[in-house]
Amino acid sequence: MQVPDANVRSSTYYIAQTSVHCPSCNQCTRVLAVALPAPHEVLIEDEWQDADVSAFIFYVTEVPEEVLQLLTQTSGFFRSSRMEDTPDPCLTNHCEHCGTPVSDDQLHCEPGGFMPGYADEAQAISLIEVRKALRAVAAGYAVDPEFLVHTPKR
Ligand SMILES: [Zn+2]
Repeated sequence: MQVPDANVRSSTYYIAQTSVHCPSCNQCTRVLAVALPAPHEVLIEDEWQDADVSAFIFYVTEVPEEVLQLLTQTSGFFRSSRMEDTPDPCLTNHCEHCGTPVSDDQLHCEPGGFMPGYADEAQAISLIEVRKALRAVAAGYAVDPEFLVHTPKR
């Protein structure tokens, strides 16, 4: 899959991991997200524009097959799923214990998860650098999470 409709692209990317409490069973579960380093490119009104910031992408509906494989190898609980609030199936985290979807809204638009409100939450996030190009269709885009700069890479 070449992702012809991609709206973000980057020469490398990160798989970010952290833990959150499941909204259903309240146990701690591991969750993933895709982050892009600066600089990358964003498609705005049919033109690729340089984005000189790091960013998380979410509500991801399409990625190349090899990226999808790498993500699902990293966590079998991060897989395509249709959520109530999105028209298309998108990559969604699921609780490791009860299988309940953990929405990207909860992870990226509320404090905690991948939008840490406190330094100790930022430190809970680990990043795996993938030195491969990424193209993706993502409805969600969170610019320059400060902690991305400070998080130790491995
Ligand atoms: Zn659960």
